[in-house]
Amino acid sequence: MPKLRFQALHDIQKRTRVPFDANQKPVDLFRSNVFDEKAMRQYLSATSFDGVQNAIKKGDNIDRVSADAIATGMKTWALEKGATHYSHWFQPLTGATAEKHDAFFEITVDGHVIDKFDGAQLAQQEPDASSFPNGGLRNTFEARGYTAWDPTSPAFLYDNTLCIPTVFVAYTGEALDYKTPLLKALNAIDSAATDVARYFNKNVSKVTATLGWEQEFFLIDASLAAARPDVTLTGRTLLGHASAKGQQLDDHYFGSIPSRVLTYLKELEYESLRLGIPVKTRHNEVAPNQFEIAPVFEEANLAVDHNALLMDVMEKIAQRHHFKVLFHEKPFEGINGSGKHNNWSLATDTGVNLLSPGSTPMKNLQFLTFFINTIKAVCRHEELLRASIASAGNDYRLGANEAPPAIISVFIGSQLTNVLNELEKVTDGKLSPQEKTDLKLNVIGKIPEILLDNTDRNRTSPFAFTGNKFEFRAVGATANCANPMTVLNAIVAQQLIDFKNEVDILIDKKDMKKDDAIFNVLREYIKESKKIRFEGDGYGDTWEKEAKKRKLSINNNTVVALKARISKNSVILFEDLSIMNSVEIEARYEIELEEYTKRIQIESRVLGDIARNHIIPTALRYQNVLIKNVQGLKNIYGEEYLAFAKAQTHIIKSISEKVAAIDSLIVEMTEARKKANILTLESKAEAYTMQVKSYFLLIRKHCDKLELLVEDELWPLPKYRELLFVN
Ligand code: ADP
Ligand code: MG
Repeated sequence: MPKLRFQALHDIQKRTRVPFDANQKPVDLFRSNVFDEKAMRQYLSATSFDGVQNAIKKGDNIDRVSADAIATGMKTWALEKGATHYSHWFQPLTGATAEKHDAFFEITVDGHVIDKFDGAQLAQQEPDASSFPNGGLRNTFEARGYTAWDPTSPAFLYDNTLCIPTVFVAYTGEALDYKTPLLKALNAIDSAATDVARYFNKNVSKVTATLGWEQEFFLIDASLAAARPDVTLTGRTLLGHASAKGQQLDDHYFGSIPSRVLTYLKELEYESLRLGIPVKTRHNEVAPNQFEIAPVFEEANLAVDHNALLMDVMEKIAQRHHFKVLFHEKPFEGINGSGKHNNWSLATDTGVNLLSPGSTPMKNLQFLTFFINTIKAVCRHEELLRASIASAGNDYRLGANEAPPAIISVFIGSQLTNVLNELEKVTDGKLSPQEKTDLKLNVIGKIPEILLDNTDRNRTSPFAFTGNKFEFRAVGATANCANPMTVLNAIVAQQLIDFKNEVDILIDKKDMKKDDAIFNVLREYIKESKKIRFEGDGYGDTWEKEAKKRKLSINNNTVVALKARISKNSVILFEDLSIMNSVEIEARYEIELEEYTKRIQIESRVLGDIARNHIIPTALRYQNVLIKNVQGLKNIYGEEYLAFAKAQTHIIKSISEKVAAIDSLIVEMTEARKKANILTLESKAEAYTMQVKSYFLLIRKHCDKLELLVEDELWPLPKYRELLFVN
């Protein structure tokens, strides 16, 4: 008997909500569990404090003596707050977070028990690295990976554990994590953008990349999720007939948050704020049971850590509320998937957002410089940017009619399009006084409208300018933001370096005035990067045809998309900026391909299991019920029974047909898997995409038809209407 589904539904009625008292104000909670500047002032000597601050702000090294002093202060702070353990907290290439806890506990040679934690434990640890993906970077018998403290992301206290954000590198120095290349890319953009910003203001000495992510997710009752092997093992539904009511009424978006969900979100926000994650916005998303959380933006490295930490905390707190969080990019067929928009900008240490249009022609030239260079960078590296968001999950979402397509383009809105179109027409390198006024008028007159007028938006664009920042919308909800952020910051850094070289040549060799030189180069960039700008509807075939004409890449799946990671262009990019060497680049490529292949493999196995072990037996059981019924009718009516058994015999026949079809498709899919499994890396991934994966929808179609035929009482898996509407 399919008890699980009904037990699960039954449980929901009885469940009492976890009481949670969240009356404390966000301002009081914020960072109360973070070893932040305030705590450092209190627990560190003036010298140690300056040491850490210089490490954070200028990248200075911390020597062993200072590290000891800092560790002591940190330990005192943590112990006072009830810490029992400490852990280096890092993000291996699985994309998730990893931690290894050690107790504040040591036995000295003379038998005393002490709570030891000094500079050595703070600065460096050696967790066993053999079980993290390494793409052949390190032989397993030399499984040495080191975690090393990243002082730019403050330590925090979670579950009585002092967590120290760290990078994770092999003993040979190669990065085994997401953070290391990100930090290097952020360094690169800092130096490149500072150089360019100094054309406009000599006082600028640092430029920070900022990131504000928007995390989308589904919340499903934990018992219902547990009754579905596909949700449990793959994070998404591999089958399930559409619910009669889906999202067609648009009644969920920004609707009132269901009370059980709100209780969860309140506790989540409470924990997040204490951990220093500046969560600010919560709302219902378009799909039923889909929600979004967004923070105040932060320095990009910190924002990346905070997103990874939030995802972790979300899952932990969900358990207390008997929810399962689905981060998958496409958990339900026919229903919107989940993304993680990455809002990105550049801020100077003089307090200026470089992507914010200004009030004077000069400030606007500065804005246009960073704006146009970003567009140019995206145009040059659209394939690499596409690769940075490629994953098995995102393949189901991109282009699925609610998410941006797999083609990268930039949307800037009608006002800025007009500005660029006009600038493009200015012929000689110089702006006439008249044109200068025009530029001023254009920018002053029009850009504030963009800031105020939020309707000038295009939801179908993967990379959109939204007033004072770019919004990279193609990022998937499960992604670690470090990957797309490393690429985006690297390509803009490279672009700004090239830009500065070109401008300087015009100034030095052609004796051009600085503004004219800048404008001259920008105007050429506008022309060169025109093909990446697209204001129209990103959904549908028209754009795909147009994109083909423009020679933009259309990399519809991960296997094709990932190739750009190891292209000559991207190797040059990362090596020139010292972000990754070719070995690290190749390793990442391998890891991502392998992960992709494994995910499709798991989905294929799970689908085969469910179809064979759940769907077919259930269908046959119901068929037997019908057969019995028909036999009974025959007993009563003799040869005339058929007149009374039309529907039954029809269903009996349909069931047999569908069961036979499912069975043979599973056999074929298993064969395809066998063939794929003997291939290596790329061809294996290709075979999984082109062969194995192509069975998913075919098998699903028959299973979903059976769901409509078979008696509801017998159906073992929670249905879409239950997963999506019960909470
Ligand atoms: P929406 O895009 O949903 O309309 P907002 O534009 O208000 O919402 O902000 C979305 C996200 O953009 C938030 O996470 C916010 O922190 C972030 N954001 C705003 N300004 C910047 C900036 N200068 N740099 C990076 N992120 C930013
Ligand atoms: Mg947004």
